[in-house]
Amino acid sequence: MGKEELMKKLEEKIQSCQKCPLGKLRTNAVPGAGSYDAKVMFVGEAPGYWEDQKGLPFVGRAGKLLDELLAEIALSREEVYITNIVKCRPPENRDPTEEEIKACSPYLDKQIDIIRPKVIVPLGRHSMSYILRKFGFEPEPISKIHGKAFEAHTLFGKIVIMPMYHPAAALYKPPIREELRRGFQKLKELIRDS
Ligand code: SF4
Ligand code: URA
Repeated sequence: MGKEELMKKLEEKIQSCQKCPLGKLRTNAVPGAGSYDAKVMFVGEAPGYWEDQKGLPFVGRAGKLLDELLAEIALSREEVYITNIVKCRPPENRDPTEEEIKACSPYLDKQIDIIRPKVIVPLGRHSMSYILRKFGFEPEPISKIHGKAFEAHTLFGKIVIMPMYHPAAALYKPPIREELRRGFQKLKELIRDS
């Protein structure tokens, strides 16, 4: 099976999934969106109100900021892949629980296996912890490792993990927004060199 077919099958599975209680509460599951050949994959935390309404990742206010950050380094949504660790919206946008992350993360693992990105950018604390652990690193405070490159070696070659602040955390905090901008500049250099 080609990437396209594997991803479509996985998306269908996510759309009808009931592996955790969030399945009953959602309007739409949000599998992810973008290129199946993406070099760069962004991993947020969980869908919010608008994502749940539309079935697409990062389409609310945080998404608008993400679009701006991408545009500043001349990347479009069509050439990256954007998803979340948890695919259904937690009520009142609370943080996903350990159980929900455990139930849902195998989908993210499969997406990484199929797409085989060169760079993964976890957005926010939960995503950073999950991705760093998955590749054998110990999570550290996000303030300490924002924009830092972690090199992991996998069966399909080198992969670089560059954790960043969650765009939602930057919405009302200009200093965090500046940090994110600097992080994206580092990402630009990383992509150019890889
Ligand atoms: Fe399934 Fe994930 Fe949705 Fe839970 S959050 S129902 S595990 S797709
Ligand atoms: N925040 C996230 O973590 N993911 C989304 O898709 C939207 C907002």
